[in-house]
Amino acid sequence: MLNWVKKHRPPIVILENVCSAPWQTVVKKFEDAKYSAKSIRLDTKAYYVPHTRTRGYMMAVNAQSSGIPNKWADRMASMKRDASCTLDAFLLPSDDPRIHQAREKLVRESYNAQDRKTGRTDWGRCESRHQRTRLEEALGAKRPLTNWDEGMWWCHRFSVIPLLISHKVAPSRCLIMAGQTGFKGRSNASGILSIFRYSDQPCKVSTPPIRGKVFYAPSVLPLTRSSLSQVWNLSQNVDRSIGSNRVGISPCLTPSMIPYITNRGGPMVGLEALHLQGLPIDELLLTRETEDQLADLAGNAMSTTVVGTTILVALVLSMKYLTPGHDKRTYEEKHGTRITEIDEDIMEVDPPSDSLQDHVVGEDQLLERPFGISKTSGQPLSSLLADAMKSVRFCTCEGRKDMTEREVRRCDDCGFTACIKCGGRPEHNARPIDVKAHPRLPPSTFERDLKSALPMCLELSGITEELLNSLKQEFGAAIPSKRWEIWRNAVVEAVGPELRFVQLKRQELWYATYESTKAVVELCLHPQRSEWLFYAKPSPSEPANAEIRKLLMYPAARLACDGSLLNGRWEVALPQTTSLEISIKGVGELVPSWESKLGLQDPKFLDATVFSQLDVSVPPEDVVHFDRDITGTYVLLDKCGTANNALHKKIATKEDAALPPLFFLLDPIRSGKPTDDAFVFSTSIRRLEYQETRPIFARLQPSWRQSSKDGPQRVSCVVPQKYVFADGVSLKVRFAFLYL
Ligand SMILES: [Zn+2]
Ligand SMILES: [Zn+2]
Repeated sequence: MLNWVKKHRPPIVILENVCSAPWQTVVKKFEDAKYSAKSIRLDTKAYYVPHTRTRGYMMAVNAQSSGIPNKWADRMASMKRDASCTLDAFLLPSDDPRIHQAREKLVRESYNAQDRKTGRTDWGRCESRHQRTRLEEALGAKRPLTNWDEGMWWCHRFSVIPLLISHKVAPSRCLIMAGQTGFKGRSNASGILSIFRYSDQPCKVSTPPIRGKVFYAPSVLPLTRSSLSQVWNLSQNVDRSIGSNRVGISPCLTPSMIPYITNRGGPMVGLEALHLQGLPIDELLLTRETEDQLADLAGNAMSTTVVGTTILVALVLSMKYLTPGHDKRTYEEKHGTRITEIDEDIMEVDPPSDSLQDHVVGEDQLLERPFGISKTSGQPLSSLLADAMKSVRFCTCEGRKDMTEREVRRCDDCGFTACIKCGGRPEHNARPIDVKAHPRLPPSTFERDLKSALPMCLELSGITEELLNSLKQEFGAAIPSKRWEIWRNAVVEAVGPELRFVQLKRQELWYATYESTKAVVELCLHPQRSEWLFYAKPSPSEPANAEIRKLLMYPAARLACDGSLLNGRWEVALPQTTSLEISIKGVGELVPSWESKLGLQDPKFLDATVFSQLDVSVPPEDVVHFDRDITGTYVLLDKCGTANNALHKKIATKEDAALPPLFFLLDPIRSGKPTDDAFVFSTSIRRLEYQETRPIFARLQPSWRQSSKDGPQRVSCVVPQKYVFADGVSLKVRFAFLYL
């Protein structure tokens, strides 16, 4: 490279390499070649993208004793801007078809492939480091996630931890969590879980059980907060990743690492790694690259935001060294380099035609008739809902389109479903679903029916400034005026533009999404309560931490379908937060706490207990503030997963019979401190995707945790929104025609 520079003397040179490169020597060599040069270190997360990636950069100009390289270094420092969004913004949704495909590709590629990533590893040393970590952190000896026995393992047991790792990750490169959970004393008390790396001998899932040696290349995972946004490098030993990484920022992606995303419970795919280098993945057409090649590409790439800034700053500062001109000769012509002769066998191609008319034939045979995209099949709501429940996703391995052949089980307590290969941990109270007695409907069939039943264009009308102001006067006196104004203006602006159908999503339930430039509307086909949720979009120019962005994360209005899809009374969600006190009393027997069940050896966890039931009561005068009355007895379902195994379900009363079940659970924040996580009352217990919110009836103060304390406790809580009925609001089919 240096020889090339010496020969051709480019006016500006920029180099990038790892920090450990001999930068001082490189600078010296450039100075010897009569350049001025300066090297600096730059970190990607200081340039817009949440990715810790420190690399050395050098800038040189073709002039001796020039001040430009120093100016370049100063200007680069002044161009810094911290990443304002978290890692999640760069990841695809967990059920995105591209993730599904990438995981399947991983499996295919790993079979029969020499796993170059495993290399030669001294597993014995890894194992002893792992044991030491268990001891030092008082994690005990249990393996609560897998219940594996010491010293033996079976390939097919890869499947027992689907919530934490893909059941399809191939054994030859898979890392299995056979480990432990526990508290990490020094790092913010986040629970951790060890991961064990298994044999690097290629083996297939379908082979009969193999008894093998257990190898460890453990890493640590925050199990208790598995909804936290972190990337763990599973190719590192357990004591290397201790949970002190900054949440929401990716560690340095390298070609040999195995990045595991904690709140997905699965690997980061190559495409996402490219995204974290600042590449626009939606504009790339990648087809034949293997997952390994994509990871290589990403691991060896330069972050576009950093390299782009270095180039722009260098160009701006070095204008005087760039010679202007109208050079039409190519590099080869100028230097007399021989150009390869044109191959005479080359296929002849028609020259491109200029006229569009030449491409179109048979136009005179076309008939013109209106195509009503507002026409719907009129299938009744009840039959749509019945079909929706027959075709929902029963297990994450089905993705958005498939139906598993395996037996499927449903938990009697929490309703969670999974196939028998993926299910297993958490245990649940699972019972097989009889698909013979209740046959399933192929998702593609239902998708077609649902599409023909849904209008393609919708319009929300009736939400005006006057209406909102009058609702505030009547119900929302306590809303601060600044918050009210920004929220009201955003919502009024969002009503109006036509909402167009975007997509159907098949998850635990079916969802349909509509979007306009200013708003998103989502239809959720819940068997007990189908509803439309209307969200206003914040203006793209709002800063990432603007209050309006937080306010608009929650729906601005909703419609519970009454009899048919578009029927019912709309409710507006006023942004009024109400603080009040409720009483919680432990009843029932005492059971071991989740820390104690994990076998943690710390004395404060060893015999810790919590109540198996909780009595929640609300002062009668405050019931009016709640969207749904939360008073009642809640039973602990500690086999059903969720953060800290703290899921509780309300014992249904007469009033609850027609409504979705009500849960009380710890709802962790994706990128925040564990101490900020709070218990909430909600009807939804699913793992949320980035920027999704659960419907919350009340959120407790974050310091409240389960305990064995006797007697009622007064706990303060917050009701985040106030729903009020609003007359005159309606969602209508927008009559639109396409002429074909
Ligand atoms: Zn499955
Ligand atoms: Zn369950």
